[in-house]
Amino acid sequence: MSELQQLKMEHIHTLISARDVQDLSIREIMEDILDDAQMAAFLPDSLCQIDPRTGDVVVYNSSRSTRIQTTEHIHAPRNRDDRCPICLAKSTRIIDLQPLSEGFTFINKNLYPILHPLECILKDVGERPLAPDPFHHGRSSYGFHLLQWTSSIHENDWHNMPLADCLICFDRLAMLEHKLLTQSEGFMPASDKVLKKSTNVDAVVLTAAGQKTFGYVSIIKNYGYAAGASLTHGHQQIGFSNIMPQRYFNNFTFLQRNHKTFSDYMLEENPAKLMVRDYGTVALVVPYFMKRPHNILILVKDTSKQYIFQLTPTERREFVMAMVDAIRALMVIMPRMGIEPAYNININNGPGAGVYLELLACTQMTGGFEHIGLWVCQANPYDVAEQFRAVINANT
Ligand SMILES: [Zn+2]
Repeated sequence: MSELQQLKMEHIHTLISARDVQDLSIREIMEDILDDAQMAAFLPDSLCQIDPRTGDVVVYNSSRSTRIQTTEHIHAPRNRDDRCPICLAKSTRIIDLQPLSEGFTFINKNLYPILHPLECILKDVGERPLAPDPFHHGRSSYGFHLLQWTSSIHENDWHNMPLADCLICFDRLAMLEHKLLTQSEGFMPASDKVLKKSTNVDAVVLTAAGQKTFGYVSIIKNYGYAAGASLTHGHQQIGFSNIMPQRYFNNFTFLQRNHKTFSDYMLEENPAKLMVRDYGTVALVVPYFMKRPHNILILVKDTSKQYIFQLTPTERREFVMAMVDAIRALMVIMPRMGIEPAYNININNGPGAGVYLELLACTQMTGGFEHIGLWVCQANPYDVAEQFRAVINANT
């Protein structure tokens, strides 16, 4: 058996700014990013436009098209694992690092960020992220774009790591989410700022701990080429922004319209036959409106929780168990369909949550009908739920 491809600790000593991001202030993280000479060539335009039809938020970074991972497979099909830059310690500085049972997990800065700190934030910009823009010059978008590498071992990720290691990774995300949201006053607008402006309703932004939150933390994962992962080394992306992603805004307006969160609604209304597994504090369900085969949701039953850092240890454990079960099931189901496993994850949090996670399998291409909001799904939700149940029951 060949030697494990992995990032070795001895190669990154000089790259470690902190082993626990709690030891850094928000300003220190910001300065660490601004001082990074490697990143200077790849900065985003710090510009945000909004599609007036849908409210979709668009940010720009033209330099991302020059990423070697983006261009090389256009020119030559590759075995991209051969020269994994992460295993070769071609990393930006590391702001968090925790040992796992084998290897370690760590958080660093995205070399090609979609969000970057502005050195001086005009008061207006900070307080009015959705200010009127009559000349369509765009609005300022700023923040951080970080990466969590699930494991230093190239092949390891949620689907093949022990649950205890998966929990460590998830806890680091929750800790980072907490730090960014609660310690960024002055750098970020209050998380309810946009909502107060646009709905004239005071959003509930006090967390269970009674802390006010600032900005928006989005946590996503792309796994596999078809899902847009430019590197095969398993990772999560963390965006911290002054602008609110459209989905989070939609979650909030859902709450305003229906007087309940989307998670409440799904827990009440989604047909019982679409429950894949009930873990106690969280539920793994196929939504009745499934748009693509094998799209699945993880709903936290205590819908007063707005952020993952608010989840209790039991909720975190069951949330991770549900996520791992669903990912492992996809690793079995997709090859059976003749498809290389690929999926996206997004964690929905913020003033409109009920925390929930959406796992979107890349089982069917997106066509023209889908772009006009007419989704043609080539599987039935009830069959998919049954398939998930069968595979998960066989795996556990
Ligand atoms: Zn690697």
